[in-house]
Amino acid sequence: MKPTNPVFTGIETTIFETMSRLAMAHDAVNLGQGFPDVDGPLDIREAAGKALVDGPNQYPPMLGLPELRLAVASANKRFYGLDIDWQSQVIVTSGATEALADCIMALVEPGDEVILIEPLYDCYLPLVKRAGGIPVRLRVTPPSWSLDLEALKAAFSPKTKALLINNPMNPAAKVFSDEELSAIASLCVEHDVYAICDEVYEHLVFDGAAHRPLMTYPGMAERSLRIGSAGKTFSLTGWKVGYITGAPHLIDPIAKAHQYVTFTTPPNLQKAVAFGLAKGNDYYDGLADDLAGKRDLMAKGLEALGFKVLPCAATYFLTCDITGLGIGETDVEACQRMVEEAGVAVVPVSAFYGGEAPTNFIRFCFCKQDHVIEEAMTRLSNWIAPAAIAS
Ligand code: PMP
Ligand code: GLN
Repeated sequence: MKPTNPVFTGIETTIFETMSRLAMAHDAVNLGQGFPDVDGPLDIREAAGKALVDGPNQYPPMLGLPELRLAVASANKRFYGLDIDWQSQVIVTSGATEALADCIMALVEPGDEVILIEPLYDCYLPLVKRAGGIPVRLRVTPPSWSLDLEALKAAFSPKTKALLINNPMNPAAKVFSDEELSAIASLCVEHDVYAICDEVYEHLVFDGAAHRPLMTYPGMAERSLRIGSAGKTFSLTGWKVGYITGAPHLIDPIAKAHQYVTFTTPPNLQKAVAFGLAKGNDYYDGLADDLAGKRDLMAKGLEALGFKVLPCAATYFLTCDITGLGIGETDVEACQRMVEEAGVAVVPVSAFYGGEAPTNFIRFCFCKQDHVIEEAMTRLSNWIAPAAIAS
C-alpha cells in the first residue's frame, strides 16, 4: 500500500499518554501528565451543566459564542492592558492544541523557517513539519534556563516566517525575562516575523511575579498570536477550550484554518468559560497561591530525598536533576524504573527535545492534592533509601 504521511507515521505516542498508561498499569501515583487531580471551580462546572440542559446545543458561531469572545477581550484588557476588538480579534478553539495547529497552518508555507525554543511542547515539531515548515531549534539551558541572545539573533534569517514561544514555559517552569522578551520582540520586528505565543500557563505564575505577553511589546500587537487555555486557567484540562487573540489580518486566515479543523467548540463549555474569565482577582490569586504551596511541598520532599530541584517560577511542573542518585543512567531509564519499582509516574525531560537532549532531568507534576504528593514522597523514599544503602 502507499505510504501514509511520514510526519505522523511511525512516531511515538506522546510521552504524556505513555506515562499515564504506565501509571495505570502499575497502579502508580501519576505525577507525569500535567493535570490537576481536583476539578476546577464548582460554579463554573454548574454553569456548564445548566447550559447543557437548557441548550441550545447546536453549532455555535464559528468564531465562538459572542459572550466568550467578549470575555476573552476584556480579560486581555484587565490583565495586560491590551485593547482587543472581540468581533475581529478573538477565536475560540477546541483547546490550545487546536489553536496552535490553526496558527501554524494559516501562517506557515512550505520552506518557511520557524524558530522553536527547546525544551519544547510535544506538538510543536510535528505541526511545523506537517505544514512544510523548517524548524530552527534554539534552546534554553538548565539550571537557569536562560536564552542565549547571540544564538537567538543567529536563528533569524530572511526565510524566518514565525517564532513559536511558550511563556511561561513547560517543562522549564521558566518565565521569560523582560530582557529576553524585548530581544525577541525587536528581532521579530526587524525581520518581519510572526510570533505564536503559547501562554496557556499565563495565570500559573508564582511569588508575586506577573506574566507579560509578548504581544504588549512595541511593534508586536500586529504580529503576535496569543493563545490561552481554559483547561489551565480553571483546572479543567479535559474541557479543551482555548482562545486565540491577534490582529484582524492574522485572525482572518487563522479562522479559515479553524473552520476546517473543528469549526467550533461545545457551546455549554464556552458559556461556562465566559463566566469563569470574569471571576474576581481572589480566584486568580488563590489559584497561583495554592499551586505555589504545592510546588513548595513537593520541592521540600524531593530535596530531602536527594533530588536537585531546579527553580520553578510558574506552571504545574518541577524539574529535577537526577545525577548521582543511582536511579538510572538516563532520564528515560529512571522514569521507567520509577513507575515500575516505586509506583510513581513522572516524565523524562529529554522527550521535550527534537534532537540531542540532556538525559539527566525528570519532570514532576505538582498540581495534586497534598496527600497525593505526600504518598508519592513516601513511595520514593521507600524506593530510594534501600538503593542508597545498598550502593
Ligand atoms: N501548550 C502547552 C505548553 C501545554 O503544556 C499544553 C498542555 N495542556 C497545551 C499547549 C495544550 O493545551 P490544551 O489542553 O488547551 O489543548
Ligand atoms: N500539557 C500536558 C503536559 O505537559 C499534557 C497534555 C497532553 O497530554 N496532551 O503534561
